[in-house]
Amino acid sequence: MKYNPAKKIQDLEHFGEFGGVNPSITDSATYTFMQAGTMLDTFKGEAEGCFLYSRHWNPTNKYLADAMAAMEGTEAGWVTASGMGAITCAILQVVNAGDHIVSSMTTYGGTFAFLHNWLQKFNIEVSFVDITDLDAVKAAIKPNTKLIYTETMTNPLLQISDVPELSKIAKSNNCKLMVDNTFTPMIFTPAQLGADIVVYSLTKFVNGKNDCVAGAICGSAEYINSLIDVNDGTSMLLGPVLDPLRSSSILKNLYTLHIRMKQHSKNAEYLSAKFKEIGLKVGYPGLAEHKGYELMKSMMNEDFGFGGMITIDMETSEKANQLMELMEEKGVGYLAVSLGYFKTLFSCSGKSTSSEVPKEIQEKMGMSEGLVRFSVGLDNDIENTFDVISECIKEIK
Ligand code: PLP
Repeated sequence: MKYNPAKKIQDLEHFGEFGGVNPSITDSATYTFMQAGTMLDTFKGEAEGCFLYSRHWNPTNKYLADAMAAMEGTEAGWVTASGMGAITCAILQVVNAGDHIVSSMTTYGGTFAFLHNWLQKFNIEVSFVDITDLDAVKAAIKPNTKLIYTETMTNPLLQISDVPELSKIAKSNNCKLMVDNTFTPMIFTPAQLGADIVVYSLTKFVNGKNDCVAGAICGSAEYINSLIDVNDGTSMLLGPVLDPLRSSSILKNLYTLHIRMKQHSKNAEYLSAKFKEIGLKVGYPGLAEHKGYELMKSMMNEDFGFGGMITIDMETSEKANQLMELMEEKGVGYLAVSLGYFKTLFSCSGKSTSSEVPKEIQEKMGMSEGLVRFSVGLDNDIENTFDVISECIKEIK
Protein backbone atom coordinates (compact mmCIF):
# COMPACT_ATOMS: atom_id res chain seq x y z
CA MET A 1 0.00 0.00 0.00
CA LYS A 2 1.34 3.41 -0.99
CA TYR A 3 -0.32 6.54 0.28
CA ASN A 4 -3.97 6.19 1.26
CA PRO A 5 -5.65 9.54 0.53
CA ALA A 6 -9.15 8.09 1.04
CA LYS A 7 -8.29 7.09 4.62
CA LYS A 8 -6.93 10.60 5.27
CA ILE A 9 -10.29 12.07 4.27
CA GLN A 10 -12.24 9.41 6.17
CA ASP A 11 -10.28 10.16 9.35
CA LEU A 12 -11.06 13.88 9.35
CA GLU A 13 -13.30 14.99 12.19
CA HIS A 14 -14.77 18.46 12.39
CA PHE A 15 -18.03 19.31 14.03
CA GLY A 16 -20.52 22.15 13.74
CA GLU A 17 -21.26 24.71 16.41
CA PHE A 18 -24.04 22.62 18.03
CA GLY A 19 -22.35 19.26 17.57
CA GLY A 20 -23.47 19.02 13.95
CA VAL A 21 -21.70 16.31 11.97
CA ASN A 22 -20.74 18.91 9.38
CA PRO A 23 -18.77 22.01 10.31
CA SER A 24 -20.71 25.25 10.64
CA ILE A 25 -20.54 27.72 7.78
CA THR A 26 -18.96 31.04 8.68
CA ASP A 27 -20.46 33.54 6.28
CA SER A 28 -18.72 36.58 7.68
CA ALA A 29 -16.32 38.84 5.87
CA THR A 30 -14.80 40.23 9.08
CA TYR A 31 -14.19 39.11 12.68
CA THR A 32 -14.27 40.90 16.02
CA PHE A 33 -11.43 41.06 18.53
CA MET A 34 -11.60 41.65 22.28
CA GLN A 35 -8.10 43.10 22.39
CA ALA A 36 -6.58 45.38 19.76
CA GLY A 37 -3.21 43.68 20.27
CA THR A 38 -4.59 40.32 19.11
CA MET A 39 -5.75 41.97 15.88
CA LEU A 40 -2.22 43.20 15.29
CA ASP A 41 -0.79 39.72 16.00
CA THR A 42 -3.30 38.22 13.55
CA PHE A 43 -2.15 40.66 10.87
CA LYS A 44 1.39 39.45 11.44
CA GLY A 45 0.24 35.81 11.24
CA GLU A 46 1.13 35.25 14.89
CA ALA A 47 -2.27 34.53 16.48
CA GLU A 48 -3.12 30.84 16.12
CA GLY A 49 -6.87 30.19 15.67
CA CYS A 50 -7.81 33.85 15.10
CA PHE A 51 -9.45 35.10 11.93
CA LEU A 52 -9.06 38.61 10.61
CA TYR A 53 -10.82 39.02 7.29
CA SER A 54 -12.16 36.38 4.89
CA ARG A 55 -9.90 37.24 1.95
CA HIS A 56 -7.06 36.20 4.26
CA TRP A 57 -8.67 33.20 5.97
CA ASN A 58 -12.20 32.01 6.55
CA PRO A 59 -12.90 29.08 8.94
CA THR A 60 -15.08 27.24 6.41
CA ASN A 61 -12.43 27.62 3.71
CA LYS A 62 -9.87 26.38 6.20
CA TYR A 63 -11.80 23.13 6.73
CA LEU A 64 -11.69 22.46 2.99
CA ALA A 65 -8.06 23.60 2.64
CA ASP A 66 -7.02 21.36 5.56
CA ALA A 67 -8.92 18.43 4.01
CA MET A 68 -7.14 18.98 0.67
CA ALA A 69 -3.78 19.14 2.47
CA ALA A 70 -4.64 15.89 4.30
CA MET A 71 -5.53 14.20 1.02
CA GLU A 72 -2.25 15.31 -0.53
CA GLY A 73 -0.16 14.80 2.62
CA THR A 74 1.15 18.38 2.56
CA GLU A 75 1.57 20.63 5.58
CA ALA A 76 -0.99 23.15 4.40
CA GLY A 77 -3.48 24.17 1.72
CA TRP A 78 -5.47 27.15 0.48
CA VAL A 79 -8.65 27.24 -1.59
CA THR A 80 -9.49 29.60 -4.43
CA ALA A 81 -12.47 30.73 -6.47
CA SER A 82 -11.33 28.73 -9.53
CA GLY A 83 -8.64 26.34 -10.71
CA MET A 84 -7.09 29.18 -12.71
CA GLY A 85 -7.09 31.29 -9.53
CA ALA A 86 -5.06 28.52 -7.88
CA ILE A 87 -2.66 28.02 -10.80
CA THR A 88 -1.96 31.70 -11.47
CA CYS A 89 -1.46 32.62 -7.78
CA ALA A 90 0.67 29.55 -7.13
CA ILE A 91 2.95 30.35 -10.09
CA LEU A 92 3.18 34.09 -9.45
CA GLN A 93 4.23 33.41 -5.86
CA VAL A 94 7.23 31.39 -7.10
CA VAL A 95 8.50 33.50 -10.02
CA ASN A 96 9.59 37.12 -10.37
CA ALA A 97 10.12 39.31 -13.43
CA GLY A 98 13.06 37.99 -15.44
CA ASP A 99 12.71 34.38 -14.22
CA HIS A 100 12.28 31.34 -16.42
CA ILE A 101 9.81 28.41 -16.29
CA VAL A 102 10.05 25.00 -17.94
CA SER A 103 6.53 23.74 -18.66
CA SER A 104 4.91 20.74 -20.22
CA MET A 105 3.82 21.70 -23.74
CA THR A 106 0.58 19.85 -23.07
CA THR A 107 -1.43 21.51 -20.34
CA TYR A 108 -4.99 22.76 -19.99
CA GLY A 109 -5.49 25.54 -22.61
CA GLY A 110 -6.08 28.27 -20.01
CA THR A 111 -2.83 27.38 -18.24
CA PHE A 112 -1.04 27.32 -21.59
CA ALA A 113 -2.41 30.79 -22.45
CA PHE A 114 -1.31 32.16 -19.06
CA LEU A 115 2.19 30.75 -19.48
CA HIS A 116 2.51 31.51 -23.18
CA ASN A 117 0.78 34.90 -23.50
CA TRP A 118 0.22 36.54 -20.14
CA LEU A 119 3.50 36.07 -18.27
CA GLN A 120 5.28 37.94 -21.07
CA LYS A 121 3.96 41.15 -19.47
CA PHE A 122 6.43 40.56 -16.67
CA ASN A 123 9.28 39.36 -18.83
CA ILE A 124 8.89 35.81 -17.53
CA GLU A 125 10.05 33.39 -20.19
CA VAL A 126 8.56 29.91 -20.55
CA SER A 127 10.13 26.99 -22.43
CA PHE A 128 7.60 24.36 -23.48
CA VAL A 129 8.85 20.79 -23.68
CA ASP A 130 7.56 17.26 -24.11
CA ILE A 131 7.34 16.52 -20.40
CA THR A 132 7.80 12.78 -20.97
CA ASP A 133 11.26 13.49 -22.44
CA LEU A 134 13.40 14.01 -19.33
CA ASP A 135 16.48 14.90 -21.39
CA ALA A 136 14.49 17.69 -23.03
CA VAL A 137 13.44 18.94 -19.58
CA LYS A 138 17.06 18.96 -18.38
CA ALA A 139 18.25 20.67 -21.56
CA ALA A 140 15.62 23.43 -21.16
CA ILE A 141 16.81 24.43 -17.66
CA LYS A 142 18.57 27.81 -17.50
CA PRO A 143 20.40 29.56 -14.65
CA ASN A 144 17.24 31.66 -13.99
CA THR A 145 14.78 28.70 -14.06
CA LYS A 146 12.64 28.85 -10.92
CA LEU A 147 9.87 26.40 -11.76
CA ILE A 148 9.08 23.16 -13.56
CA TYR A 149 5.35 22.99 -14.28
CA THR A 150 3.31 20.00 -15.38
CA GLU A 151 0.05 18.07 -15.00
CA THR A 152 0.32 14.58 -13.53
CA MET A 153 -1.92 13.31 -16.34
CA THR A 154 -1.86 15.95 -19.05
CA ASN A 155 -4.89 17.61 -20.60
CA PRO A 156 -5.88 16.44 -23.19
CA LEU A 157 -3.22 13.94 -24.32
CA LEU A 158 -3.22 11.93 -21.07
CA GLN A 159 0.58 11.74 -20.94
CA ILE A 160 1.97 10.69 -17.57
CA SER A 161 4.54 12.97 -15.93
CA ASP A 162 7.37 11.20 -14.15
CA VAL A 163 6.99 13.15 -10.89
CA PRO A 164 9.87 11.46 -8.97
CA GLU A 165 12.34 12.12 -11.82
CA LEU A 166 11.08 15.66 -12.43
CA SER A 167 11.45 16.31 -8.71
CA LYS A 168 15.09 15.20 -8.87
CA ILE A 169 15.71 17.56 -11.80
CA ALA A 170 14.00 20.41 -9.93
CA LYS A 171 15.95 19.80 -6.72
CA SER A 172 19.31 19.56 -8.43
CA ASN A 173 18.62 22.87 -10.19
CA ASN A 174 17.30 24.67 -7.14
CA CYS A 175 13.83 25.20 -8.53
CA LYS A 176 10.31 24.10 -7.54
CA LEU A 177 8.18 21.38 -9.12
CA MET A 178 4.49 22.32 -9.41
CA VAL A 179 1.96 19.70 -10.52
CA ASP A 180 -1.69 20.11 -11.52
CA ASN A 181 -3.46 16.95 -10.32
CA THR A 182 -6.96 17.88 -11.53
CA PHE A 183 -7.43 14.72 -13.68
CA THR A 184 -6.24 12.28 -11.04
CA PRO A 185 -7.24 13.09 -7.44
CA MET A 186 -6.76 10.08 -5.09
CA ILE A 187 -5.05 8.18 -7.95
CA PHE A 188 -1.86 10.21 -7.61
CA THR A 189 -0.59 12.12 -4.60
CA PRO A 190 2.14 14.17 -6.30
CA ALA A 191 3.56 15.66 -3.10
CA GLN A 192 4.32 12.11 -1.90
CA LEU A 193 6.21 11.56 -5.15
CA GLY A 194 8.34 14.70 -4.78
CA ALA A 195 6.26 17.65 -6.04
CA ASP A 196 6.70 20.83 -4.01
CA ILE A 197 3.32 22.35 -4.85
CA VAL A 198 0.11 20.64 -6.00
CA VAL A 199 -2.66 22.64 -7.65
CA TYR A 200 -6.22 21.67 -8.45
CA SER A 201 -9.28 22.74 -10.28
CA LEU A 202 -11.81 21.52 -7.71
CA THR A 203 -14.47 22.23 -10.36
CA LYS A 204 -13.83 18.76 -11.83
CA PHE A 205 -13.60 15.37 -10.11
CA VAL A 206 -13.08 16.69 -6.57
CA ASN A 207 -16.44 18.44 -6.44
CA GLY A 208 -17.95 16.22 -9.11
CA LYS A 209 -21.27 18.05 -9.39
CA ASN A 210 -20.56 20.75 -11.98
CA ASP A 211 -22.36 23.29 -9.79
CA CYS A 212 -19.43 25.66 -9.18
CA VAL A 213 -15.85 26.55 -10.06
CA ALA A 214 -13.16 26.35 -7.40
CA GLY A 215 -9.48 25.54 -6.93
CA ALA A 216 -6.87 24.57 -4.35
CA ILE A 217 -3.15 24.93 -3.69
CA CYS A 218 -1.32 22.45 -1.44
CA GLY A 219 2.26 22.77 -0.23
CA SER A 220 4.50 23.51 2.73
CA ALA A 221 3.20 25.71 5.56
CA GLU A 222 5.88 28.25 4.70
CA TYR A 223 4.74 28.47 1.08
CA ILE A 224 1.01 28.66 1.89
CA ASN A 225 1.70 31.37 4.50
CA SER A 226 3.71 33.28 1.92
CA LEU A 227 0.68 33.24 -0.42
CA ILE A 228 -1.47 34.98 2.17
CA ASP A 229 1.12 37.36 3.54
CA VAL A 230 -0.62 40.73 3.89
CA ASN A 231 2.35 42.57 2.39
CA ASP A 232 3.33 40.49 -0.61
CA GLY A 233 1.23 37.31 -0.74
CA THR A 234 -0.16 36.78 -4.24
CA SER A 235 -3.43 35.20 -3.08
CA MET A 236 -3.97 37.85 -0.42
CA LEU A 237 -3.30 40.71 -2.84
CA LEU A 238 -4.99 39.39 -5.99
CA GLY A 239 -7.84 38.05 -3.86
CA PRO A 240 -9.39 35.01 -5.68
CA VAL A 241 -11.01 33.79 -2.47
CA LEU A 242 -13.58 30.98 -2.49
CA ASP A 243 -17.07 31.66 -1.14
CA PRO A 244 -17.45 29.76 2.18
CA LEU A 245 -20.89 28.45 1.17
CA ARG A 246 -19.19 26.73 -1.77
CA SER A 247 -16.34 25.47 0.41
CA SER A 248 -18.88 23.81 2.63
CA SER A 249 -20.59 21.98 -0.25
CA ILE A 250 -17.29 20.95 -1.87
CA LEU A 251 -16.06 19.53 1.44
CA LYS A 252 -19.13 17.29 1.68
CA ASN A 253 -18.55 16.07 -1.89
CA LEU A 254 -14.90 15.32 -1.06
CA TYR A 255 -16.07 12.52 1.25
CA THR A 256 -17.40 10.51 -1.70
CA LEU A 257 -14.50 11.23 -4.05
CA HIS A 258 -12.82 7.83 -3.56
CA ILE A 259 -15.99 5.94 -4.54
CA ARG A 260 -16.57 8.17 -7.55
CA MET A 261 -12.97 7.82 -8.76
CA LYS A 262 -13.24 4.03 -8.62
CA GLN A 263 -16.43 4.07 -10.69
CA HIS A 264 -15.07 6.63 -13.21
CA SER A 265 -11.99 4.42 -13.62
CA LYS A 266 -13.95 1.17 -13.86
CA ASN A 267 -16.16 2.60 -16.61
CA ALA A 268 -13.25 4.17 -18.49
CA GLU A 269 -11.25 0.93 -18.32
CA TYR A 270 -14.21 -0.94 -19.82
CA LEU A 271 -14.89 1.61 -22.56
CA SER A 272 -11.22 1.97 -23.56
CA ALA A 273 -10.83 -1.82 -23.95
CA LYS A 274 -13.99 -1.97 -26.05
CA PHE A 275 -12.95 1.03 -28.17
CA LYS A 276 -9.69 -0.76 -28.86
CA GLU A 277 -11.53 -3.97 -29.75
CA ILE A 278 -13.56 -2.20 -32.46
CA GLY A 279 -10.42 -0.66 -33.93
CA LEU A 280 -10.64 2.94 -32.70
CA LYS A 281 -7.46 4.93 -32.05
CA VAL A 282 -7.88 5.14 -28.29
CA GLY A 283 -5.72 6.85 -25.69
CA TYR A 284 -6.04 5.56 -22.12
CA PRO A 285 -3.16 5.18 -19.63
CA GLY A 286 -4.73 1.96 -18.32
CA LEU A 287 -4.08 0.18 -21.64
CA ALA A 288 -0.77 -1.70 -21.64
CA GLU A 289 0.28 -0.13 -24.96
CA HIS A 290 -0.06 3.42 -23.61
CA LYS A 291 3.38 5.01 -23.32
CA GLY A 292 2.77 5.97 -19.69
CA TYR A 293 1.23 2.67 -18.52
CA GLU A 294 4.22 1.25 -16.60
CA LEU A 295 5.13 4.65 -15.18
CA MET A 296 1.55 5.19 -14.04
CA LYS A 297 1.51 1.80 -12.33
CA SER A 298 4.70 2.67 -10.47
CA MET A 299 3.31 6.02 -9.24
CA MET A 300 -0.40 5.40 -8.61
CA ASN A 301 -2.10 4.67 -5.31
CA GLU A 302 -3.78 1.30 -5.19
CA ASP A 303 -7.55 1.00 -5.49
CA PHE A 304 -8.53 4.02 -7.59
CA GLY A 305 -7.81 2.77 -11.10
CA PHE A 306 -6.40 4.60 -14.10
CA GLY A 307 -8.85 7.49 -14.09
CA GLY A 308 -11.96 8.57 -15.96
CA MET A 309 -10.43 10.29 -19.00
CA ILE A 310 -10.18 8.71 -22.48
CA THR A 311 -9.35 10.12 -25.89
CA ILE A 312 -10.26 8.77 -29.28
CA ASP A 313 -8.81 10.14 -32.47
CA MET A 314 -11.49 10.56 -35.13
CA GLU A 315 -8.84 12.14 -37.41
CA THR A 316 -10.96 15.04 -38.70
CA SER A 317 -12.96 17.59 -36.75
CA GLU A 318 -15.98 16.85 -39.01
CA LYS A 319 -16.05 13.22 -37.90
CA ALA A 320 -15.43 14.23 -34.29
CA ASN A 321 -18.38 16.64 -34.43
CA GLN A 322 -20.67 14.07 -36.06
CA LEU A 323 -19.83 11.54 -33.36
CA MET A 324 -20.34 13.97 -30.50
CA GLU A 325 -23.68 15.21 -31.86
CA LEU A 326 -24.91 11.64 -32.32
CA MET A 327 -23.78 10.62 -28.85
CA GLU A 328 -25.59 13.57 -27.31
CA GLU A 329 -28.75 12.80 -29.31
CA LYS A 330 -28.73 9.16 -28.20
CA GLY A 331 -28.19 10.02 -24.51
CA VAL A 332 -24.58 8.91 -24.00
CA GLY A 333 -23.84 12.21 -22.28
CA TYR A 334 -23.32 15.87 -23.08
CA LEU A 335 -21.26 17.73 -25.68
CA ALA A 336 -19.65 20.04 -23.14
CA VAL A 337 -16.25 21.15 -21.92
CA SER A 338 -15.09 20.30 -18.39
CA LEU A 339 -14.83 16.91 -16.75
CA GLY A 340 -15.33 14.87 -13.62
CA TYR A 341 -19.14 15.02 -13.76
CA PHE A 342 -21.49 12.12 -13.04
CA LYS A 343 -22.66 12.23 -16.68
CA THR A 344 -20.22 11.52 -19.51
CA LEU A 345 -18.94 14.73 -21.12
CA PHE A 346 -17.15 14.96 -24.46
CA SER A 347 -15.52 17.71 -26.44
CA CYS A 348 -13.14 18.08 -29.36
CA SER A 349 -10.05 19.40 -27.54
CA GLY A 350 -8.39 21.29 -30.40
CA LYS A 351 -11.54 23.36 -30.94
CA SER A 352 -12.45 23.83 -27.28
CA THR A 353 -10.36 23.42 -24.11
CA SER A 354 -7.08 23.59 -26.05
CA SER A 355 -8.17 26.18 -28.62
CA GLU A 356 -5.78 28.67 -26.96
CA VAL A 357 -2.88 26.50 -28.16
CA PRO A 358 -1.75 27.63 -31.66
CA LYS A 359 -2.31 25.07 -34.44
CA GLU A 360 1.42 24.52 -35.03
CA ILE A 361 1.98 23.73 -31.31
CA GLN A 362 -1.04 21.39 -31.32
CA GLU A 363 0.59 19.57 -34.23
CA LYS A 364 3.98 19.53 -32.51
CA MET A 365 2.53 17.89 -29.41
CA GLY A 366 0.68 15.35 -31.56
CA MET A 367 -2.87 16.59 -30.96
CA SER A 368 -5.06 15.56 -33.89
CA GLU A 369 -7.86 17.95 -34.94
CA GLY A 370 -10.26 15.02 -34.55
CA LEU A 371 -9.28 14.23 -30.94
CA VAL A 372 -12.38 13.65 -28.82
CA ARG A 373 -11.80 13.80 -25.07
CA PHE A 374 -14.22 11.84 -22.92
CA SER A 375 -14.77 12.35 -19.23
CA VAL A 376 -16.49 9.06 -18.52
CA GLY A 377 -19.46 9.29 -16.17
CA LEU A 378 -20.68 7.12 -13.31
CA ASP A 379 -23.06 5.01 -15.48
CA ASN A 380 -24.26 1.89 -13.75
CA ASP A 381 -24.66 0.05 -17.06
CA ILE A 382 -21.53 0.90 -19.02
CA GLU A 383 -22.04 -2.12 -21.31
CA ASN A 384 -25.19 -0.47 -22.64
CA THR A 385 -23.38 2.88 -22.94
CA PHE A 386 -20.77 1.19 -25.10
CA ASP A 387 -23.45 -0.40 -27.31
CA VAL A 388 -24.96 3.03 -27.94
CA ILE A 389 -21.55 4.60 -28.70
CA SER A 390 -20.71 1.81 -31.14
CA GLU A 391 -24.05 2.38 -32.94
CA CYS A 392 -23.10 6.07 -33.25
CA ILE A 393 -19.69 5.13 -34.66
CA LYS A 394 -21.30 2.91 -37.29
CA GLU A 395 -23.41 5.86 -38.47
CA ILE A 396 -20.41 8.13 -39.12
CA LYS A 397 -19.71 8.80 -42.76
N1 PLP B 1 -6.43 22.46 -14.75
C1 PLP B 1 -6.95 21.56 -15.60
C2 PLP B 1 -6.21 20.28 -15.87
C3 PLP B 1 -8.17 21.84 -16.24
O1 PLP B 1 -8.67 20.94 -17.09
C4 PLP B 1 -8.83 23.07 -15.96
C5 PLP B 1 -10.11 23.41 -16.61
O2 PLP B 1 -10.58 22.74 -17.50
C6 PLP B 1 -8.22 23.97 -15.08
C7 PLP B 1 -7.04 23.63 -14.49
C8 PLP B 1 -8.87 25.31 -14.78
O3 PLP B 1 -9.80 25.18 -13.79
P1 PLP B 1 -11.05 26.18 -13.55
O4 PLP B 1 -11.92 26.07 -14.77
O5 PLP B 1 -11.66 25.66 -12.30
O6 PLP B 1 -10.49 27.54 -13.40
